Amino acid sequence: MSIPKLPSTTSLSDLDIANALFAPIRHAEPPSPTKRHLKISIIGTGNVGMAIAQTLLTQDLVDELLALVDALPDKLRGEMLDLQHAAAFLPRTKIVASTDYAVSAASDLCIVTAGARQLTDESRLNLLQRNVNLFKKIIPPLVKYSPGCILLIVSNPVDVLTYIAWKLSGFPSNRVIGSGTNLDSSRFRFLIADHLDVNAQDVQAYIIGEHGDSSVALWSSISIGGVPILSFLEKRQIAYEKETLVNIHREVINCAYEVIKLKGYTSWAVGYSVANLARSILRDQRSIHPVSVLAKGFHDIEDGDVFLSLPAQLGRGGVLGVINVPITDEEADQLRKSATTILEVQEQLGV
Ligand code: NAD
Repeated sequence: MSIPKLPSTTSLSDLDIANALFAPIRHAEPPSPTKRHLKISIIGTGNVGMAIAQTLLTQDLVDELLALVDALPDKLRGEMLDLQHAAAFLPRTKIVASTDYAVSAASDLCIVTAGARQLTDESRLNLLQRNVNLFKKIIPPLVKYSPGCILLIVSNPVDVLTYIAWKLSGFPSNRVIGSGTNLDSSRFRFLIADHLDVNAQDVQAYIIGEHGDSSVALWSSISIGGVPILSFLEKRQIAYEKETLVNIHREVINCAYEVIKLKGYTSWAVGYSVANLARSILRDQRSIHPVSVLAKGFHDIEDGDVFLSLPAQLGRGGVLGVINVPITDEEADQLRKSATTILEVQEQLGV
């Protein structure tokens, strides 16, 4: 088969070249108006934002556009070009980037990873105040350009910032989600699996509550291959060390600090964790993830509007429901304590 030669002229437009390459199909129908194209925007192209971007691309989750937004134009363009240059190895996705939020228009999902870095001797509250000010610049334009999107907040402290995003957006709470303890739960499952030498995907286990130091490990509901492990051991009168459980939870809390101490930041696991959430949402998987949701009304959290992680069912509508996972009185107490701490911080911020 002979390939038609392109006329050698520099005056040809890209369209002319495309027309020369492809013979038109007669009687072709216009593209179906019902065909959905998925668009994801990522705000903040630092370590976390780029790990999420690359995981989304390799998992073929975005079929039309991945829009990147950051405040640093050179870094942003560099990251965009670097990803675009992998086009020959990836499913086709158009990647665009701009410091102008117009590039995010008509997104289905907006993932916010932008965050200020802690300054030397800066208090956590001051850092938080700076991040709140940052969100005042980020959330309103996202809402303006994508009024129907789902907001997925990753920046820390994720629970308070998800609350701030909810307030600033005016969205119903089912469309504002914090990545919450999805990552902590993955670390938990890995550590249990490692301890028992099983596959982490066979371990069902949740960390709920605050993403961070006061998170709550739901030991009572852990199952491995469908076997509720603690009640199974107790029924068979197999002894286990309570200390081991405490240590595993402590390790879940400390391992983020350890990674940051060793490599300066965390990125790969949070990239997979957020891509996993994006898949459940955009592909309407209706699967359950521990994510930060408006927790008022659950487990007797009544004092105010607070976002905390609970096992929630995610789909195209965002949060579809919160699963009634059985928790012990002690676990519920810990959860309410986390809620009180976060509410106090929100009060100090005056939001
Ligand atoms: P980073 O400093 O590498 O990246 C932050 C990016 O935000 C930078 O590129 C910066 O230019 C950008 N940015 C700052 N102001 C902006 C603005 N107004 N508009 C757009 N972009 C802006 O930080 P990182 O390591 O990528 O971490 C990002 C955030 O994710 C931090 O808050 C971190 O604590 C958080 N994080 C969350 C989890 C989780 O599980 N929720 C896990 C890891 C990290």
